[in-house]
Amino acid sequence: MPELPEVETTRRGIEPWLVGRRIERLVVRNRQLRWPVPRSLPSLIRGARVSAVARRAKYLLIATDAGTLIVHLGMSGSLRVLDSSSEPQVHDHVDLQLDSGRCLRFNDPRRFGCLLFTARDPLRHRLLRRLAAEPWSPAFTGESLWRRARGRRSSIKAFVMDSANVTGVGNIYASEALFRAGIRPGLAAGRISLERMITLVAAIREVLAEAIDVGGTTLRDYVNPSGMPGYFRQKLFVYERRGQPCRRCRTRIRQLTQGQRSTYWCPKCQH
Ligand SMILES: [Zn+2]
Repeated sequence: MPELPEVETTRRGIEPWLVGRRIERLVVRNRQLRWPVPRSLPSLIRGARVSAVARRAKYLLIATDAGTLIVHLGMSGSLRVLDSSSEPQVHDHVDLQLDSGRCLRFNDPRRFGCLLFTARDPLRHRLLRRLAAEPWSPAFTGESLWRRARGRRSSIKAFVMDSANVTGVGNIYASEALFRAGIRPGLAAGRISLERMITLVAAIREVLAEAIDVGGTTLRDYVNPSGMPGYFRQKLFVYERRGQPCRRCRTRIRQLTQGQRSTYWCPKCQH
């Protein structure tokens, strides 16, 4: 599933192709995404000029003079910039055709993504208005996280992956941040000291920033807009490294399945 670094990589990849361009046509081949693409959207958006491509949590916000397109990649969605004349492939559900002869093509095999529209402030949209802080927001601090964790028995890993606490941190980056902070993923969130929570917040920011720098992590279903892989996989310390030696201490990385999610950790570095 794309996490924040993959979405931000997508944003940076598509932005230069979109900003300043006029939308000539929106082609919807399959409107049955997580929520249906509004039937009126092609006529609402035709002729609009793109002014910005922003991101809030894992939503991409394509701002135009007619309103804002809200895009979510869901579990398996990707956006690519191609020539408008290129033949659509299976799962290419939507094309945003631009006056440059290019199009932004949305592919999503599992169709958990979405393409919605608002003519109002997108941050007030029902999907966005209650989102937790961005990882780099001044509101997200070790102290705020520590305070939220008081009395919580859920694991620290589940706690940082909960989008009510911070947005955009999924399984990969939660696992990696906990390794860097030296915290065992199964520990109850409420038992973590303020000092260690401060370390964890710094580790979350560091791991996300490094992943964005190298174009995210290539996942089974994820490609970035240029079709290039992300290179963060080579930098992973624990995620999907079960049985391999820890890059710091050579101890074998362990794996445990909690619910349906795999958790990876180094028993020596994380305690
Ligand atoms: Zn280790």
